[in-house]
Order: sequence, then structure tokens, then C-alpha cells
Amino acid sequence: MKSLSIRLKITLWFSAVLVVVVFFTYLAVLSVSRQIIQKTIKDSLIETVENNVDEVEFYHSLDDIDSSNDVDHYVKYIDGYLEIDDDFLNHVNEVYTALYKEDVTLLYGENPISKETSNLKFSDSQIQQLTVKGTIYYIFDRKLSTLGLESLWLRGVVSEAQGAMQMSNITRLSLIILPLLVLVAVTGGYLIAGSALRPIRKITDTAAQIGKGDDLKKRIELGRGNDELHQLANSFNDMFQRLDDSFETERQFTSDASHELRTPISVITAQCDFSLEEPRDAEAYEKALRVIQRQSKKMSKLVNDMLNFTRLETRADSYVREPIDLTELVSSTCSDMAYIQENNITLKCEAEANVKFHGNRELLSRLLVNLISNAYRYGNENGHILVRLKSNEQEIALSVSDDGIGIAKEEQNKIFRRFYQTDNSRTSAGTGLGLSMVYEIAQFHKGEIRVESELHRGSTFTLILPN
Ligand code: ADP
Repeated sequence: MKSLSIRLKITLWFSAVLVVVVFFTYLAVLSVSRQIIQKTIKDSLIETVENNVDEVEFYHSLDDIDSSNDVDHYVKYIDGYLEIDDDFLNHVNEVYTALYKEDVTLLYGENPISKETSNLKFSDSQIQQLTVKGTIYYIFDRKLSTLGLESLWLRGVVSEAQGAMQMSNITRLSLIILPLLVLVAVTGGYLIAGSALRPIRKITDTAAQIGKGDDLKKRIELGRGNDELHQLANSFNDMFQRLDDSFETERQFTSDASHELRTPISVITAQCDFSLEEPRDAEAYEKALRVIQRQSKKMSKLVNDMLNFTRLETRADSYVREPIDLTELVSSTCSDMAYIQENNITLKCEAEANVKFHGNRELLSRLLVNLISNAYRYGNENGHILVRLKSNEQEIALSVSDDGIGIAKEEQNKIFRRFYQTDNSRTSAGTGLGLSMVYEIAQFHKGEIRVESELHRGSTFTLILPN
């Protein structure tokens, strides 16, 4: 059963239920039909006998009888005659009626079980039942009450076999029609199940093709619709899109990283070639070594940033969240970085007391270091940096402002992209990964990073954290 297709399983279950339902319907039809037929037979028996009641009359002399109607029957009875109208139904629709004396002597009519009923007492307007040679008969007696006929009885007899014939017709018909209906329903069910499950085949095929790595751009096309399978296909398509996006980002990252590494490697190789080509003076060697040192530092920073990035993206749970005294973190980072004094820039810190946050200390410290490093790197000679920490009931705001070169409006939404550097910073020691790391760290803490900047006037980067 487990190895059967869903289509076959659905059809089998559905057919089994259908067969059970049809079987019980068949039994119910038989039982109801039997009752209806029996009632019909009995009704027809009573009706025939009652119709015959008025067809018998008594006359003292034959002279009193209207002899114009010569089809009527006359039977001698006591001191007169019985006139039995020609409308008297002695055998109609398998119902027999006979006229009897009180002592069960047959006067007129037919009774197929006359011998067997000769000892059966009359019972007025009652249906009695008698089994003769395995066949059930219904007997209906009716006492006549018209003057002169008081001791006469009409006895009607009908066999149940009459109904059995009709029953066997119903049985035969049901035995042909019901299996036919089952067959039609099962075939229809099998076809409907097939077309209802067709989308699953499409989903499986597409997933298999994507799984084989054929084409990540492939999507499941089911056309219009909003049933469960369409919803499933949409979920799969969303998943494929996310997979595609993340592979694309991965590819882009790898290609950008190799591109970024290529420049320092070429510079180092060129410097080595230059130094080894022929003997140079000490000053030339020193110059070459300084270039190599600078490029090596850049490479090392790049590799470090990339590793940190990968860790944040692939093993974010390795960064534990803990209660942090942000005031202390900001103050200590600022006093450490105030020593840099690059370009004679001064760093000032205004941290509100006692600001606590539940987050990762290492990441938040890296974020602040990145923002302050940028403020130094893109600051002007004798410039200023202001680090501010403020908090209210809803949020904590940590901002780093500088009065440096600023960022053009059209660049402001691009600077958080990986490896993005504006034209006037290409020559700096940066890697283009700092702000994208800041962005990821803000996301990690369910916060956001905002930038306000004006070209040649300075920039303010603000981290907003939920309080
Ligand atoms: P980089 O390593 O080049 O600094 P970042 O990701 O940290 O890379 O920054 C991306 C770009 O954003 C920088 O190249 C620079 O052009 C711009 N930028 C970042 N911080 C500042 C700032 N404080 N002032 C002006 N420009 C900035």
C-alpha cells in the first residue's frame, strides 16, 4: 500500500467507501421496496374485495330481477336468488375474490387455495396470513350486511409471490445499475484525482530540476488558482527565490572579495618584482616595503572583515546576547579611540549615564569602532567627532557625527552595500565592508541604522535600538 501512488490510494479509499455506501443503500432499497410492495398488495386486496361488496344482491323471485342484463350471474340461495353483477371481479391483478356462505361453502368466484382455507374462520375486515407450499397468501374477509345477505362473506386472496416478482425485478435492476454507478464513480474519481494531483508532479519535477542544480531561476507554473496546491507552489517559489537571492549574494560576495583582494596582491607582486629586478638603493627598498606593508594590512583587514561577516551571517547564534552597560562600552571605546588623533581630529563623547541594553558586546563594540574609524578616515584636518548616547522609554540612540567630507545624497542609500566605496574614498585604507557590517549588526539587534549627511559639511550615523 505504501508504494502505491497517492492517486491510486485516494481512488482505492474512495471506492471502498463507495462500495460500502452502495451496499447499504441496496439493503435499504430492498427493505423499503418490500414494505411498499406488501402494502400495495394488501391495499389492492382490500380494494378489490370492497368493490365487490355492492355487486351482490338478493331477490326472492326471479321475476323481481331485471332480466335485460343477461350477463349477470344468478345463484340459488335459500328461498330466493343471488344476482351477481357482471362487474364482480373474481380474478383481477392476481387478486381472487369468492362469495361464501357462513359455513365456508363456495357460492361464486375463485379461490386458488380454496381447499387450504376451507377451515379458516372468517374474520370481518381483517387480513389473515396463510402459508401454502412455501408461498405466503394474504386473505381478506368481508361480511355482507345488505338485507338478505347477512350470512354471506366475501373472501379475497392474493399471493405474496405477486410482490416477489416485482421485488426480483427491483433486485435485478439494482444489481445492474448500482455496480454500474460504482464503476462510473470510480473511473470519474480516478480521473479527477489524477487532474487534481497533476500540479504535484509539476512541483516535484521543478524541485528535482532545481535540486540537480540545473536552473535556480526555474519556478513552478500552475496558472491561476488559490487552492492548497497553488499555495504550496507559491511557498516553494518564494523559497526558490530566497535561495536564488542568497546564492546570488554569495556569488556576488565571492566575486567582489576576489576582486578586492586582487588589487593588493598585484601591488605586492609588482613591488617584489621591482625590488628583485636589479639592486636598488636603501630608500627604494624602504619605499617598496612600506607599500607592501600597507597592502598587506589592507588584505588582512579585508580577510578579517570577510570572516566576521561570514560568522554573522552563517553562525549568528554563536554571538550570545547578554546585559550590557552601554554607557561604559561607549565611554571606554571613545577614550581608547581618542588617542588616534589622526588628522588632528578631536573626539568628544556625551554618554547618558546608566544606559543598559541586552545585546552582544563584541558586535556593538565593532559597530562603534567602525563608525568612529570612518569619522576619522573621512574627517577633515583639525576636525571634530562627537559620539552621543541617549535613551528614552522606547529606544536607545547611539550617534557618531563628524564635520568631514560628507556623503552626496545619491550615495547615501548605497554606502551600506558590501564593498561599496564612494569615488573620493577609493584610495583610503577602507575595504568597503565596514558599513555593511554596521548594518548587519543593527539588524542582529533588531535595530536600525540611519544616516544624515551633507557633502563637505559632515555626516551623522545613528544606531537606533529598541529599549
Ligand atoms: P570603507 O572601508 O571604504 O570605509 P565603509 O563600508 O565603512 O567602507 O563605508 C562605505 C563608504 O561610505 C566609504 O567608502 C565612504 O565613501 C562612505 N563613508 C562612510 N563613512 C563616512 C563618513 N563618516 N563620512 C563620509 N563618507 C563616509
